[in-house]
Amino acid sequence: MDTELRIADALARARVSGVDRLDVQLLLAHLLQRSRAWLLAHDDAVLAPAQAAAFEAALARRAAGEPLAYIVGEKEFHGLALAVSPAVLVPRPETELLVDWALELLAGQAAPTVADLGTGSGAVALAVRHRCPAARLTATDASPAALAVARANAERLGLPLQLAAGSWWQALPGQVFDLVLSNPPYIAGDDHHLPALAHEPRQALTPEGDGLQALRAIVAGAPDHLHAGGWLLLEHGFDQAGAVQALLAAAGFQTIATRTDLAGLPRCTGGRWPG
Ligand code: GLN
Repeated sequence: MDTELRIADALARARVSGVDRLDVQLLLAHLLQRSRAWLLAHDDAVLAPAQAAAFEAALARRAAGEPLAYIVGEKEFHGLALAVSPAVLVPRPETELLVDWALELLAGQAAPTVADLGTGSGAVALAVRHRCPAARLTATDASPAALAVARANAERLGLPLQLAAGSWWQALPGQVFDLVLSNPPYIAGDDHHLPALAHEPRQALTPEGDGLQALRAIVAGAPDHLHAGGWLLLEHGFDQAGAVQALLAAAGFQTIATRTDLAGLPRCTGGRWPG
């Protein structure tokens, strides 16, 4: 049996796997600990049998629908390389909008206190702390496994993060913030997108029911945890902006606004707590 496999052969073979060409290159680059540019410039280099076998295994996982981020153990978010595992949602590019909005609100504040509810990998909290070193960040999660991922990311990136275990506000009794952020589970329990997301933790994707239960809990508790003039910013589903605006208005928030994501979909809604 011919065990000699060149990079060009591996890439060509992968073409029939149904996996995106970019993902195939990223898998191989990760396995060989080389850049994609190196791969393309050295496509006559020969893979060791163990490397070829590892590539086949990784390709099979990707072809079965597992997110690339879990296979390589890492995902880039807002300029940070975050470790991810199946204990946490894979950070999404649209969530960078939440970070950008937060950074606008924090600009010029001396030592603002910020909470990220349901932090998962720590993506939102760490990105805010990275770009706004003056801010003091607290991140919560109901999942101890997720908190361990966030803690490891904070340590590896050298970004201080206060972590608290518990569901939404239960993690933060008596604590008050200048800004609260959350990308909670917001997909409805019977949404037809869920099966395609089966590799990610279900509790990070859906609160079950109509998809609004976590958003309701966060808005309901926010007045007790925001300083006067503080802001609450929430990520939500493409069709939930109206419902989130109504929740914020009913709770007494002002200056309510919605922002659209890169796809032009209403994705984040926030408001100012008048106190
Ligand atoms: N944006 C994610 C998706 O639709 C869902 C994330 C979430 O529920 N917070 O795949």
